[in-house]
This record gives sequence, C-alpha cells and structure tokens, in this order.
Amino acid sequence: MLNKKLNELIFPQLNYEYSALEPYIDAQTMELHYSKHHQGYFTNLLNAVKDTELENKSLLEIFENISNLPVAIRNNGGGHFNHSLFWNIMSPDGKRAPSGELLKAIEKDFGSFDQFKSKFEDAAKTRFGSGWAWLSVKKDKSLCVCSSANQDNPLMDVSECKAMPILGLDVWEHAYYLKYQNRRPDYVNNFWNVADWDVIENNYKLALNSI
Ligand code: MN
Repeated sequence: MLNKKLNELIFPQLNYEYSALEPYIDAQTMELHYSKHHQGYFTNLLNAVKDTELENKSLLEIFENISNLPVAIRNNGGGHFNHSLFWNIMSPDGKRAPSGELLKAIEKDFGSFDQFKSKFEDAAKTRFGSGWAWLSVKKDKSLCVCSSANQDNPLMDVSECKAMPILGLDVWEHAYYLKYQNRRPDYVNNFWNVADWDVIENNYKLALNSI
C-alpha cells in the first residue's frame, strides 16, 4: 500500500466482523471507526489530491515530503495509512505474543517482552490529546517505541522517531470512548488481548527487507 500511487489506492477490507474484538473493543466503536472515521480520511485524501500531480505519488513519497504539503494531506494521508495498519494488526484469534526473530529483537532492544509492553503502554497512555503509539524499525534495524500527535506517523519527515512502523495503536477518543469513556489506560491494557503477533512479525520481516 505504501508504494502504490494514490489514485490506485482502494479502501481496505476489514478481515473480521465489527463484533469480533469484543469484549475488548465493542462492535459499535469498530463500525463507526472503520466505516465513518477511516472512510472519511480515505475519501478526503483522494479529494485532496484529485487532479493534482500528487495523485501519481505514493503514500511513502507523500510522507517523506509531508512538511511541504497541505495539512489536509498530512491529516488524511496519515489517517488512511495508520488505520489500515491498525485493523491489520488486530484479530479475534491471533498469536498473543511475539516469537522468533522479532522476540529476539524485542529482548535485545527493550530487555524483555514485558519491558517492551510497559514502554509501549506508557507511550500510548501519556500521549496528550489525540494520537498514536508505535513500534517501529529504524534504519539501523533496531526497534523503537514512540508516540505521535493527531494522524502523524513515524514515516513522516516531521517525525521525531523516523522509522518503519510495524505496530500502531490508535489512542484518539473515538477509538475507545463509547466503551471506556475517560479510561484510556484500560483500553491500552486490553489492546494486548486483540494484538496479532503473527501479523506484526510479518510486518517486521517486510520492514527489514525494505530498509
Ligand atoms: Mn482512529
């Protein structure tokens, strides 16, 4: 998706039912989040680039030059990519902990899986206002955890932690407020019950190959 021209992008399918992530993420939140919020970012992105030279660029090219582009493209391009990644790294019945090469890398860079989780949870819980928490692969192939505001992500030239994201957690209120109200920490802790480490491991392999 990152290398496709914007005018060839299609709105991604959700690979599970809206209710599939219950009780951790409720069906109504999933439906609104996917069919209204994400669909909105996608439509607005296409409208923002329509009939401009940007429609022949890829998301990756857009992100690497985002500081020079209109804010609508930053918000909606980020919104489209971030949500596409987010739906994919969750599933009702995935592997709930990393293994293999990714586990080794996590242990090398964070000490242990538990220490990684705690660092990631902190990033998600302490992000002020709307944003995202990320696990990403840096150019030197090491792993890093960070958060970003709004719909920014680590691929953008404005990012303080430039890297290839392999796991992202949406901490906008629209991602959890119906079920958790102000209790973002509960939502973040419960996220591990739906994170799919088969997919995240595959993202890690793809990231290593793209560096
Ligand atoms: Mn969202």
